[in-house]
Amino acid sequence: MPALTDLSTIRSLCDRYGFSLSKGFGQNFIINPGVCPRIAEAAGIGPEWGVLEIGPGIGVLTEQLAMRAARVVSVEIDRRLPPLLAETLAGYNNVRIVEGDVLKVDLKALIREEFGDRPVAVCANLPYYITSPILMRLLEERLPVENITVMVQREAAQRLCAPPGTREAGAISYAVDYYAQARQLFTVQPGSFYPAPKVTSAVIRLDVRKTPKGDLTPEAEKSLFRLVRAAFSQRRKTAANAISSGLKVEKSAILQAMEETGLDVRLRPEQMTLQDFLSLRARLEQDGV
Ligand code: SAM
Repeated sequence: MPALTDLSTIRSLCDRYGFSLSKGFGQNFIINPGVCPRIAEAAGIGPEWGVLEIGPGIGVLTEQLAMRAARVVSVEIDRRLPPLLAETLAGYNNVRIVEGDVLKVDLKALIREEFGDRPVAVCANLPYYITSPILMRLLEERLPVENITVMVQREAAQRLCAPPGTREAGAISYAVDYYAQARQLFTVQPGSFYPAPKVTSAVIRLDVRKTPKGDLTPEAEKSLFRLVRAAFSQRRKTAANAISSGLKVEKSAILQAMEETGLDVRLRPEQMTLQDFLSLRARLEQDGV
């Protein structure tokens, strides 16, 4: 099989299978031959590992994963691609393509059935239109995965990996930090894709914590992230003002809770650490908030 990064190979495959790339599914395929080996290496996959891939496209990253892992399962939403993938991945007997929407497939069951006790990594060049929902689903469901190594839009990478308490942080940075240790690895220029997107991309790796940073009950987790989202719902306001209007709670109650937790009431949301939010949530819970 000629290289899947070769434009003439891609065009000939598309012609033979009557396939045209779909913008709606975020289909920008990697054509720089250096990128997929680098992503697969960054995921730290060993020969005994299982890998869950999201969106194999024509299989260019899948192939690199299959060369390194014991088993690869790739979830692809576009029903036109599995027949094409059967040809491009014919040389690998350790790959299974699952047709479906990664936001709807029962990933826990899939991982259990396909990988058993193997260490598992998630690796993907993500469809950018649903980066956050996919990552939040992977983290919130507490799937038994060691790490998540994915390509995303560079701005999303910065936000996802920003340490809480810094200017670049947003509500999602706190969720990521709660579940995982995040690192930005390298950037990838638009010319590395076909068709070239308008934006620069970046590869990030999230090493999933064995126990989340706060180790809360599911209910308490929900209320923590409700609080964080409320604080970030109006970035120009102080956290106290934003939380008060976001949660519809008297401002005086928020101010008192902040004071009692030792927090400066003038803090802006991005100045608060995850620990600050954890303490404030615990204090507000006593007031029934
Ligand atoms: N892995 C290929 C590569 O690197 O060239 C393709 C990456 S392309 C950016 C994103 C892929 O995700 C496409 O194959 C697209 O059809 C697929 N996709 C989009 N939305 C999806 C969803 N909800 N569930 C599963 N796959 C999805």
